[in-house]
Amino acid sequence: MKHELGHYLSQTAKELQPSGIRKFFDLAASMEGVISLGVGEPDFTTPWSIREATILSLEQGYTSYTANAGLLELREEITNYLNTRFGVQYNPKNQVIVTIGASQGIDLAFRAILNQGDEVLIVEPAFVSYGPLVAIAGGTPVPVSTSPENGFKVTPEQIEAAITPKTKAILLCSPNNPTGSMLTKKDLIEIAKVIRKHDLLVVSDEIYAELSYDEEFCSVPALEGMYERTILINGFSKGFAMTGWRLGFLAGPEELVSVMLKIHQYTTMCAPHMLQHGAIEALRNTYDEVIAMRNSYRRRRNYVVQTLNQMGLDCHMPGGAFYVFPSIRATGLSSEQFAEELLMQEKVAVVPGHVFGESGEGYIRCSYATSMSQLQEALKRIQRFIESKGVQAKP
Ligand code: PMP
Repeated sequence: MKHELGHYLSQTAKELQPSGIRKFFDLAASMEGVISLGVGEPDFTTPWSIREATILSLEQGYTSYTANAGLLELREEITNYLNTRFGVQYNPKNQVIVTIGASQGIDLAFRAILNQGDEVLIVEPAFVSYGPLVAIAGGTPVPVSTSPENGFKVTPEQIEAAITPKTKAILLCSPNNPTGSMLTKKDLIEIAKVIRKHDLLVVSDEIYAELSYDEEFCSVPALEGMYERTILINGFSKGFAMTGWRLGFLAGPEELVSVMLKIHQYTTMCAPHMLQHGAIEALRNTYDEVIAMRNSYRRRRNYVVQTLNQMGLDCHMPGGAFYVFPSIRATGLSSEQFAEELLMQEKVAVVPGHVFGESGEGYIRCSYATSMSQLQEALKRIQRFIESKGVQAKP
């Protein structure tokens, strides 16, 4: 056997780029005294009653497989939640799958719908997984760039300009990672017209739905004519502070869900049984805690946006998620240089905007899902750093 194994690898796998976020995590982890604004996860521990319900389920011996789609009891809670919170109705028996995080939901969606060469529009700046997951499923990701002038919201015109005869679907993510921008119901109604006109499917990543601060969240399948063409992706990671549980769900038209279920059953079998009992508790009894976490993020968002603007980094007010995406153009540095030098000079980890797509260049992503005292210290250090680059605070 040869020692060089590269020639065994699939071309698609070989061409995958490592995530640009990882590089900064690894670097920051090797240093002491670093404040990380890099990670995209809640700083809260999962509410206790969810953990307790899971412990109880282990004590009761729930250690077997569940139905492939997940416990029916959990699917019923999910459909109830989607109906009461967002006004979309699904049948728990055949329109919902409990997945291994939203991540697996997105993967299943692309695997189920894409043929070789099918194009998927990805609104950028975008979460780093979308493009690679489209490619792994044999499709071609096509970036649609947004700009800060429009609050990083995609317009129907931008979507229309990117559509070709090969376009099969569009990935929408609102509230957005990394920009935090939110599409309002009004925005989505206009976008939906183009999507219907060109007969596209939508993969709607609604993982930050619970973290909407100013406007009411609008779920894509709730819009006229969108239900039958949308695969809704959501999960417990962000709103319920359950990232490590790896639990999410998808919902959609039965014809699509039944195919995704076949793939899920062969690749994954089912989500972990005992954790699904925790998820039932999450949806039944922890809504007050979800609201308290949301309110805490909102306070931190307001503080961070105001402070960044005062120090001279232009930052739009994001409507949701837990990221700010300030412009670092005033420093004259590229986003990679900024992130690298900030880490070395001041020991603050942020993510350079270019890792989220070309239109992210000139920006950095900072997560504010960290304690107020850490945020205060990190912002002091960022201010000292940009002053060293000649940026003046606003009077
Ligand atoms: N979508 C977006 C936009 C995300 O930011 C993340 C997590 N960073 C995910 C999906 C994946 O979430 P999960 O933990 O549910 O797999």
